[in-house]
Amino acid sequence: MLYVSTRNAQEKVTASQAVLKGLAENGGLFVPEQIPVLDVPVEKLADMTYQETAYEVMKLFLTDYTEEELQKCIENAYDSKFDTKEIAPLVKAQDAYYLELFHGSTIAFKDMALSILPHLLITAARKNQVSNDIVILTATSGDTGKAALAGFADVEGTKIVVFYPKDGVSPIQQKQMVTQKGKNTLVVGIDGNFDQAQTGVKQMFSDQALAEEMAAAGYQFSSANSINIGRLVPQIVYYVYAYAKMVKSGEIENGELINVVVPTGNFGNILAAFYAKNMGLPIGKLICASNENKVLYDFFTTGTYDKNREFILTTSPSMDILISSNLERLIYRIAGNNAEKNQQLMKSLQETGSYTITEDMRQQLETFYGNFASEAETAAVIQNIYQEAGYIIDTHTAVAAAVYKKYQKETGDTAKTVIASTASPYKFTRSVMTAIDAKYDSKPDFELVDELSQLSNVKVPQAIEDIRTAPILHKTVCKVEEMEKVVKDFL
Ligand SMILES: *Cc1c(COP(=O)(O)O)cnc(C)c1O
Repeated sequence: MLYVSTRNAQEKVTASQAVLKGLAENGGLFVPEQIPVLDVPVEKLADMTYQETAYEVMKLFLTDYTEEELQKCIENAYDSKFDTKEIAPLVKAQDAYYLELFHGSTIAFKDMALSILPHLLITAARKNQVSNDIVILTATSGDTGKAALAGFADVEGTKIVVFYPKDGVSPIQQKQMVTQKGKNTLVVGIDGNFDQAQTGVKQMFSDQALAEEMAAAGYQFSSANSINIGRLVPQIVYYVYAYAKMVKSGEIENGELINVVVPTGNFGNILAAFYAKNMGLPIGKLICASNENKVLYDFFTTGTYDKNREFILTTSPSMDILISSNLERLIYRIAGNNAEKNQQLMKSLQETGSYTITEDMRQQLETFYGNFASEAETAAVIQNIYQEAGYIIDTHTAVAAAVYKKYQKETGDTAKTVIASTASPYKFTRSVMTAIDAKYDSKPDFELVDELSQLSNVKVPQAIEDIRTAPILHKTVCKVEEMEKVVKDFL
């Protein structure tokens, strides 16, 4: 299988080359030429471990990796870094199934892909005779950064630079990043928001002169953001896994349609669910949940994507995004896999901040339902689920839960529904605890951690224990214009 750029039909590469490059030339994203069909029957998947399922799904996309290479990557990724053998357990609360994607080392769903990406990347470098050091440049809204740092720290032949919005992440997210060990890591706070960080990183990727300068010094850039196909493919796995487990436990019949709700920022996680559906997994609606930065909700309801609006800092910071990069992969597809048409729309986005799709394209979005949750609705649903079911969810997952309730009310749809639970509540302890009861707001962070443990009956994760006393190792702060200089100084 080859991968083609969403902006240039001529640019085709193998899977391992797509993983290595991260981004296609002139800002395009790599997409598989066609979506493969899931060729293992669900009855068989039902008895497989997470690792076995991962192999069955990923081998269909990463066709130039040998069985041995891929198995090795999977084995190294989904091991005891996860605090449960199931890797991604399903928990039923009220009338939804929460697919807990936060059992990895940084307690957010980014671990699901970022624990394997370094292995895919190093294998790709070896396969393609790359001798340069790979420099991972990453913009983060909070969770990608730490998960990428954890994945790449001290990995031979790589360096990693993470840019995060200095005032746009939770205190625990920040502490997790700035305490990162590893000589090959650099963490930088920028005076700006996530979109500015992401745009700055994308600019460095597409700067030809900079690439030449880097090559002369023995470096080449790659990306750990969800624009890298090596992030997207591992995310398809858990939808397949969850479906098979629901069949196994008798929650659904084989073939029964389920809905999937995804709290969405950069559109990576929900795109993975869309790919799973296109592989043949029986998914009905894909419910796209936004916070108050509801650019995607507006897009699904009007057909116009418009980022010209106020950027709102919310209690679900990993979804505080106005430019959802991976939406481009969907746009390309509903434009009939037409790179030229997609390119025009992306040019319009770059120049005017907006674009409008055609009626014909809109009709292909029927699978999607978009809505959003306000800050008050998000807090209320955390409290409600805790009180009714004794289950505590994080703020991002709560956005999804709140949107699911709206969807049910609006449509009366009773299909079984999986909610992607993207972070541990411990990552956003203050917001979660004050949603349950305002009295908690006066207490210090780590006291709240212990209170959360009592309320939820869930042990404090190692990731949180680790930062209680860890020293701060990264203090670099820069302006958006200085990002390139910071990278060069580090290298
Ligand atoms: C990154 C992230 C999201 C958004 O995922 P996308 O793939 O960017 O849409 C949602 N919740 C959490 C906790 C995240 O870290």
